[in-house]
Amino acid sequence: MKPETLAAQALHVIDPVTGAVVPALHPSTTYARDEAYRLVGGLGYARDENPTFRAAEDVLARLEGGADAMLLSSGMAAATTVFQALTAPGAHVVAQRMMYWGLRSWLTGFAAQWQVDVTFVDAHVPGAIAAAIRPGVTRLVWIESPANPTWDTVDLAAAAAAAHAGGALLAVDSTVATPVLTRPIEHGADLVMHSATKALNGHGDVVAGALVTARKDEAWARLRAARHDAGAILGPFEAWLLLRGMRTLYPRVRLASATALELATRLATLPGVTVRYPGLPGDPGHAVAARQMTGGFGSMLSIEVGSAARALAVAGALCVFTRATSLGGPESLVEHRASVEPPDSPVPKDLLRLSIGLEHVDDLWDDLRAAIAASPL
Ligand SMILES: *Cc1c(COP(=O)(O)O)cnc(C)c1O
Repeated sequence: MKPETLAAQALHVIDPVTGAVVPALHPSTTYARDEAYRLVGGLGYARDENPTFRAAEDVLARLEGGADAMLLSSGMAAATTVFQALTAPGAHVVAQRMMYWGLRSWLTGFAAQWQVDVTFVDAHVPGAIAAAIRPGVTRLVWIESPANPTWDTVDLAAAAAAAHAGGALLAVDSTVATPVLTRPIEHGADLVMHSATKALNGHGDVVAGALVTARKDEAWARLRAARHDAGAILGPFEAWLLLRGMRTLYPRVRLASATALELATRLATLPGVTVRYPGLPGDPGHAVAARQMTGGFGSMLSIEVGSAARALAVAGALCVFTRATSLGGPESLVEHRASVEPPDSPVPKDLLRLSIGLEHVDDLWDDLRAAIAASPL
């Protein structure tokens, strides 16, 4: 069956006891044993074994075309688990320079503390990953596409080929693409990471992370052990909400992507505004994005308006957009990244990041056009 069907029906769930078409929420922390001391349902303790998060994990694994999936307490918990479990002192890692800033700053500190050598590269530049790989020493290549907040497109198949040629694993932060628009495992990725806080849940009311694996291999066993032992599990209520949110993932992401493309196209006609969006034919990543993205180019775009002061003026004049961080929710958000990132961030100071939600495109356009017109260069 098609992923749209699998998502909408949450894998055609029917509760075997009650016939309910919505899975039950299981808050129990422990599970009983019978007279012979056998576990009644095969589950022992909730710091890894919870039927509520298993249901959401099964859906996500199918949508990504993976062999297994695992929910964690946040996107950062998912990402940091990968580096902690799959590297060791002396290991070399290649990571994208322009990536989710919270992870970039954590990785820099982690690498210094644990003597992991990180090479930051412009992963969207052809050959950059291959040139940074040290065959036999590089353990992990970490990329994000489209990459926050400039939406650079990384060629996933080329990244996978480069990583594998050097004996490394490829992990992809696919938060922005979602399985609706890109399925990295089909392009050769070994691991897919999501901040499920964003479009997967899609309603701005859950913090969650996820990992999906191409294979149930030794690396996956280490990641599972890391969650079980270190304990960064998701609460059952959050997992239940996430499963609910994923049922509408496909129509939500497609609508938001279509609106983002329309807004990007209209914004590109305004003087003094530079648009970054892989869906625009003139975007440097467009050819690769058109090849590896399916059914849209995502709900995220950025505009550069000439100066930090003008960016703040535009953000301040918006009425329909909400000034807030995060992405992938039903309401559109605007954020001046330079105000929230450290001074050494590579993000342009005049950049505004737009997360497009589910509102009518004309209301968003009128808001943007008026705010830009009211903020002279
Ligand atoms: C939000 C985000 C993260 C971090 O996820 P949390 O759920 O906030 O911990 C990582 N990567 C990307 C691309 C994100 O947008």
